[in-house]
Amino acid sequence: LLDALADQAALAVERVNLVADVEKARLDAETDRLRSALLTSISHDLKTPLASIMGAAGTLRDFSASIAPEARADLLSTIEEEGERLNRFIANLLDMTRLESGAVAPNAALYDVGEIVGSAMRRAQAILRHHKVEIELAADLPMLLVDPVLFEQALFNLLDNAAKYAPEGSRVRLEGWSDGDQVTLRLLDEGPGIPEGDVERVFDKFYRVRKGDQVRAGTGLGLAIARGFLEAMGGTITVSRRPERSGAVFTIRMPVPVGAPQLEALS
Ligand code: ADP
Repeated sequence: LLDALADQAALAVERVNLVADVEKARLDAETDRLRSALLTSISHDLKTPLASIMGAAGTLRDFSASIAPEARADLLSTIEEEGERLNRFIANLLDMTRLESGAVAPNAALYDVGEIVGSAMRRAQAILRHHKVEIELAADLPMLLVDPVLFEQALFNLLDNAAKYAPEGSRVRLEGWSDGDQVTLRLLDEGPGIPEGDVERVFDKFYRVRKGDQVRAGTGLGLAIARGFLEAMGGTITVSRRPERSGAVFTIRMPVPVGAPQLEALS
């Protein structure tokens, strides 16, 4: 009986090993596939703006004598804008690399949320100039233990998306309040919103909802970075659809540090 049991056990172990081998091979293949999809996506995101820059520079060189001043200004703007796009993409990649290598050690101290929101809004002013921006922050927001650089970057990525995906002229609204234990910031836009099935996946890196989004400058990294930074500071970020109309609602929740002073009390 013991021999029979030992045989059975050996057989079971063999079977488990076989399943593990098959699973490992599947995972390796999946990793290879992801890696090459990633390289294709990165190459595409680098090549498109570079092609515009090279094209504009070539035109300026070959036709420098005959180009009208307005056309020259347009070509120079193209070079500048596409250069800026490359800059943002590379900054995103670096943020992502920092996150993945675990090198994001938040340099946290007590900060006024309103001030960080204000500075993110100032940075986003140019890209949101065609939207109606509303900000409503409660007066009694407590100080938060955050790294202002990371927090502002997370907010900026959300504002950048609102500017990119919500139509010009639509409202972009930022609300903030505290319920004692946590501060909630909510960003609402009137764009197409995020389909129900994608509310988790949009925070994956390189995930983009609509194929059509390819025409918009984007890397699929902004939300992954926002979530990574906020979680590194003890916060969370989720997205949902606006029940009453179209649009996305991003909700950030940050813990209120014990004994954090309220701004009113400070001033
Ligand atoms: P990117 O905008 O560079 O593609 P993100 O990680 O910031 O990357 O966003 C991932 C995807 O989520 C976007 O490609 C877009 O499809 C969708 N998305 C993000 N924000 C919004 C928004 N405010 N409204 C609609 N779709 C959005």
